[in-house]
Amino acid sequence: MKINNVVVIGSGTMGSGIAAQLCNANIPVTLLDLKTEISQKAKERIEKSRPPLLIDKSKIDGINVGNIADNFNLVAEADWIVEAVVERIDIKHDIYEKIFKKRKKDSIVSSNTSSIPISVLSEKLSEEDKKDFCITHFFNPVRYMDLLEIVKNEKSDLEKIKHLKNFCEVDLGKGAIICNDTPGFLGNRIGVYAMQVAMTEAFKLKLSIEEADAIFGRPMGIPKTGVFGLYDLIGIDLMADVLKSFIKELPKSDEFQEVAKEIPLVKKLI
Ligand code: NAD
Repeated sequence: MKINNVVVIGSGTMGSGIAAQLCNANIPVTLLDLKTEISQKAKERIEKSRPPLLIDKSKIDGINVGNIADNFNLVAEADWIVEAVVERIDIKHDIYEKIFKKRKKDSIVSSNTSSIPISVLSEKLSEEDKKDFCITHFFNPVRYMDLLEIVKNEKSDLEKIKHLKNFCEVDLGKGAIICNDTPGFLGNRIGVYAMQVAMTEAFKLKLSIEEADAIFGRPMGIPKTGVFGLYDLIGIDLMADVLKSFIKELPKSDEFQEVAKEIPLVKKLI
């Protein structure tokens, strides 16, 4: 299996980041989104991104953009199809149905989900299609974050997974690890829990957002975004979906449940 052509579905924060990193590696990539101005503006957002997602902005035309209504046929030409749409299982299932009808036989399909188990993502796939499906969980911003979590399912073609891992390490420069199918995998199981604890404590202590971020940032060896800033960077609407998924997947007795509750300020902002 050679990866010479990639289609990324969902051109938001993560889809754009993944497409830009493929472009940085000179791999032809197409970004597809809904038939709205979102897909048309994807390139512009990549060009304007801070910190820059592209190493060399003059390479922007290595990214082809389109929409799923008119350009879905391009999926048939891709060696790797990455799904990076909103964290909603109904929408993801709908996209997989379309992808697996259209994709070429030897391609590999992956999801960038933050929190949905692969057992749930792949529950509607045939046994044959499960072989070619995995999770590739990139972190934001894709160009700068080293970690990539790969989650396979019980039917995965291990040779293909090995090949994809190698491609992501050598061509995309990522530090890829294979994770078990546990809620939040490794990074979010720890990182999201830490953020929720910090936010819950900040409200209990009646700290201002600025005070909380001043502490839960550089002084603690954490990026200067701080916890509230990081919430914004990730997307507060996305975090709400991620938390819902944790609440559903984790046992009631898990300590995560205590800090996964809706935070009134976040609810108001959404
Ligand atoms: P986003 O909201 O920025 O982008 C999602 C995109 O999906 C939007 O452009 C939307 O128009 C598109 N979309 C929605 N329905 C669609 C459909 N039916 N067909 C095609 N496109 C559709 O979200 P994001 O932050 O990029 O997250 C995407 C995925 O990556 C989610 O599964 C999320 O959990 C995961 N993720 C996010 C982060 C992060 O920090 N933001 C990190 C790692 C993983």
